[in-house]
Amino acid sequence: MAEKLIVIGGTAAGLSAASRARKEKPDMEIQVFEKSGFVSYGACGLPYFVGGLIHDINDLVAINAESLKSRRNISAWIHHEVLLIDPEKKEVSVKNLDTDQVSIHSYDKLVIATGAVPVVPPIPGIHSDGVYYLRNMEDGIRLKAAAREHGRVCIIGGGAIGLEAAEELRNAGLSVSVYEQFPRLLPFLDNAFSQALEDTLIKHGINVRTGTQIAEILSENGKASGIRTAFGESEPSDIILVSAGVKPAGALAEQAGLALGLKGGIIVDDEMRTSHKDIWACGDCVQMKNRITGKPAYVPLGTTANKQGRIAGGNVAGGHDTFKGILGSMVTKVFELFIAATGLSKEQAAGEGYDAISVSITKADRASYYPGGRDNHICLIVDKKTGRLLGAQGIGSESIAGRINVLATAITCGMTVEEINELDLVYAPPAAPVYDPILIAANQAMKKITE
Ligand code: FAD
Repeated sequence: MAEKLIVIGGTAAGLSAASRARKEKPDMEIQVFEKSGFVSYGACGLPYFVGGLIHDINDLVAINAESLKSRRNISAWIHHEVLLIDPEKKEVSVKNLDTDQVSIHSYDKLVIATGAVPVVPPIPGIHSDGVYYLRNMEDGIRLKAAAREHGRVCIIGGGAIGLEAAEELRNAGLSVSVYEQFPRLLPFLDNAFSQALEDTLIKHGINVRTGTQIAEILSENGKASGIRTAFGESEPSDIILVSAGVKPAGALAEQAGLALGLKGGIIVDDEMRTSHKDIWACGDCVQMKNRITGKPAYVPLGTTANKQGRIAGGNVAGGHDTFKGILGSMVTKVFELFIAATGLSKEQAAGEGYDAISVSITKADRASYYPGGRDNHICLIVDKKTGRLLGAQGIGSESIAGRINVLATAITCGMTVEEINELDLVYAPPAAPVYDPILIAANQAMKKITE
């Protein structure tokens, strides 16, 4: 009989694992259980669907269940929730959410790719109608329908997803307020960068309240009607969007007795194998490893989920690929401002015991005489002792993403700012200045470490 792989979770990590396993083992039987109504969707596109930039939710789906069967011979069962894993019997109990019927399925190998679940802050009124999250396709459909009917939204949480949603809902014509409990938005960013981000939001008509906790979600007849802050101020609102971060969906793994680590993420080795020899896990449900410090980390991102899924799938099929860890490289766009970061922030570097310095520079993203140029602001975080780059952040035009990618590569290779300063980077007036902002920043950092 063919070996059987069961995958729990049918999006970035789960389907990457299933597809890679299929490639490596054409004879393997592969069954994916997905509790939502969609597989292989790009959750990252949800803010743009909610705001109307993307009209059809199906445009976010890379491949549907029917095509998975016909093109990859992967059997994906939507509306099927795995309730229980029995690692000894090598079985899962699965509930068909359309019929409530529970069935038992046996496996030889299991991949857990259950992703993350939104953090639900313990705020009175949080379970009222009119409180929304943006995690999966159904959430997106619900939020978009509400945004069409109503005019006011309060967003709790000024992280990347909250801010992307803020822009899109504002563009859709709603009045938008963002409440962030920390003193600044994206607090891992350099102070001046956070301020520039806040200024951009305010310029576009968004009410931003940093350093402000929500004490209560007000409601009328069980339906959310606004918020009250810890300072006692209140704001009426039709929609409350909670975007307060996520945590690993590790409940199934915990019940199965697998080892859990940071924030309840499933502990895996470099080959993505859990504490049980026939079970692998990947994506937002696992504990990650910081590539600089080697310590446990949790930065749930689509890039990581896809790569880990691919590696898990290959290893399920007998391979020994390894996942080396994360730098937490991220990019987002808020109106005209692009924001990107990789590696450690200055505070994190100091917390890890580095004698870290930071330098910030501003430089046009193309030759100064060429029309249409915009400033790039780059901040480097450097180990003063060795000159090694530990982190980089940037804000500015679209080109900032490419520059931070170069710096992520430099961190991965363990480069010093002296070595970065010697990089042979491109130049042409419409594309980049003769001294790229990266070179200017590296040069400034070299000066600062010798001060
Ligand atoms: P998920 O995508 O969460 O998939 C897990 C799946 O498992 C879910 O579909 C869930 O329904 C299913 N499942 C869970 N439990 C069970 C069960 N018991 N039985 C059956 N099925 C189950 N990342 C980036 O890198 N860049 C971005 O720009 C970006 N933007 C984002 C914007 C939004 C709005 C969101 C929500 C996320 C964004 N992310 C982004 C993060 C990225 O989407 C996630 O890191 C990625 O989806 C994680 O993939 P995953 O497969 O591990 O988990």
